[in-house]
Amino acid sequence: DALYNIQGWGSGYFSISQNGHLLVKPQGEEGPALDLFKLTQAAQAQGLRAPLLYRFLPIVGHRINKLNAAFRAAIDRFEYQGAYQGVFPVKANHDRALIQAVVEYGAPHSFGLEVGSKAELVMVMSQLAGRPPGTNLVCNGYKDAEYMELVLHCRELGMNAMVVMEQYSEVDLLLGTARRLGVRPSIGIRAKLTTRHNGHWGSTSGDKAKFGLRAREIVAAVNKLGDEGMLDCLHLLHFHVGSQITNIRMVKEVMREASFLYAELVQMGASMRYIDCGGGLAVDYDGSFTDSSASMSYTLQHYANDVVSAVQEVCIQRGIPPPTIITESGRALASHHSVLVFDVLTTVPLAAAPQPPLPLPLSPPPQHTHTHADASALREAFNDASYFKDEAVRAFKLGVLSLEERAQVDMMFDAACERIRQVALAHDLPLPDALRPDAVPHTRMYHVNMSADFRSAVDSWAIHQLFPILPIHRLCEEPSVPATLADLTCDSDEKVDRFINPKVGVGGGEPLPALPLHPLREGEKYYLALFLTGVYQEVMGSVHNMFGSLNTLVVRDARPGAAAAAAAGQRPANQAHPMTGEGPAARAAGSGAWGRCRLGWGGSWRVFLRGRVARLPAMKADLALHP
Ligand code: PLP
Repeated sequence: DALYNIQGWGSGYFSISQNGHLLVKPQGEEGPALDLFKLTQAAQAQGLRAPLLYRFLPIVGHRINKLNAAFRAAIDRFEYQGAYQGVFPVKANHDRALIQAVVEYGAPHSFGLEVGSKAELVMVMSQLAGRPPGTNLVCNGYKDAEYMELVLHCRELGMNAMVVMEQYSEVDLLLGTARRLGVRPSIGIRAKLTTRHNGHWGSTSGDKAKFGLRAREIVAAVNKLGDEGMLDCLHLLHFHVGSQITNIRMVKEVMREASFLYAELVQMGASMRYIDCGGGLAVDYDGSFTDSSASMSYTLQHYANDVVSAVQEVCIQRGIPPPTIITESGRALASHHSVLVFDVLTTVPLAAAPQPPLPLPLSPPPQHTHTHADASALREAFNDASYFKDEAVRAFKLGVLSLEERAQVDMMFDAACERIRQVALAHDLPLPDALRPDAVPHTRMYHVNMSADFRSAVDSWAIHQLFPILPIHRLCEEPSVPATLADLTCDSDEKVDRFINPKVGVGGGEPLPALPLHPLREGEKYYLALFLTGVYQEVMGSVHNMFGSLNTLVVRDARPGAAAAAAAGQRPANQAHPMTGEGPAARAAGSGAWGRCRLGWGGSWRVFLRGRVARLPAMKADLALHP
């Protein structure tokens, strides 16, 4: 654990078993543990080959529960008279099983959904139709007349759909559509706050943000609604300053500005009921509990406390009724639930892959005695060798050199580099940069079976976001090989050579250039896993190099009511008995082939395999989790 800092970033959902396997606790620390390695072997035996994407849906329930508990505690602590009702932003991950889980686990908490486009709205309408009336549905993003109409139809269907004005021009569009349909809308206004978030995802904040109304536009919108006799329809103030807010000071500042804005709207005559604080609640990817971009220096409870207390203070000061507080946390709710398991195919030393011998004559190297070897002489020797190699390539392109002669030049260049290495070693001199294997000696490159960056962890490539990666077995053995990861695509970009540094929080520093791994064993699979990728990663990944959808294994609470009970913070009654019958997931899945696998952690499980063709063939399995 110390090597990979699982305790730091795992939030209690991951740990290591006595026999060195990675355990997942989908219902949190108190719940049953799944052996991820055995599960992967069982899946493999059922025909589900790695790379394998696991969705541990009970983790989503646990996160929703934790978020609500934190707000409940804050509301009690500050004697806040309003309520908290979160919504999940669908853009974070629109996977159907995940959205269904959010709706199911969220029901006891009146948890709703947020959409940011017309397509998302259509998708969630099918999920919310038939649910108890009044579920909050916050509608953000660019809107045309059709979008407006759909939102108003949602109200007719019993959802509490609120349409948020992101641009001033949307006010007229909404008023026209509402008049035509004869429906009174519930309106929100998104404000451009002046407080700016400076992280990777901060461009959604500040005066120049893409969406939101400036102060003068807000006043004009309120006046227009007043003129139309619709000011009683203005219910919600929304703002979103960006994702992954790493320092709580930002939350404090934003909440103060927004709370005063809310109070002003009340005092201008709007029937305000909701303050929607957007997303931003961070995830501690490296487990360092610092305000580096891969971490956060506050807890969920600190966040809830600061949100509630800021609104409370302004409401008391201005003598206005406290609103229902909404947050739109995506990252904090769904990152932990998905784990990507992939296998290692081969490894090569990073320094120089072994070259095939060639029966070509190579003239003996000139005998130099190195009386004054220094770093500059080595660099000069390397530059000369590189220059003559490039000249030879040019000669080949002009048809002067044959392929065999070019191969000979390759051999001479390799021999020159080897000689430079020997001299550097003998005289303890630094190698020219191009000859350095890596900052870590003996580093090997592990070729892994996936598309790391474009398909499964876009942010790792695009903005150098760190994600925890570690083996899921052999965790009792010393990992003796420093490794970088190269995936199967042909792009030099698609490698992982920055890893979380377990010492970051205790005086260490930069991300590690290599990950400690185990040597491969003949005939044995070696599995690694990538964690905390449940939002924004695989949903944004393209089909780069035509890599298809991943095989997916969805782990759910099996017994009816278990999900809701877990979300409400109760433990279901029968804790001891493992699986004996079909779960709702299995029943819902309909026809298909049943595979039964007995796994080694005390329960038996049914794995339902469902063939699914999504662009390229991928398999999907449902696994029902019995507490
Ligand atoms: N709400 C809005 C309007 C967003 O644009 C986003 C994403 O950036 C979110 C909520 C979710 O943010 P986060 O994942 O940081 O909670």
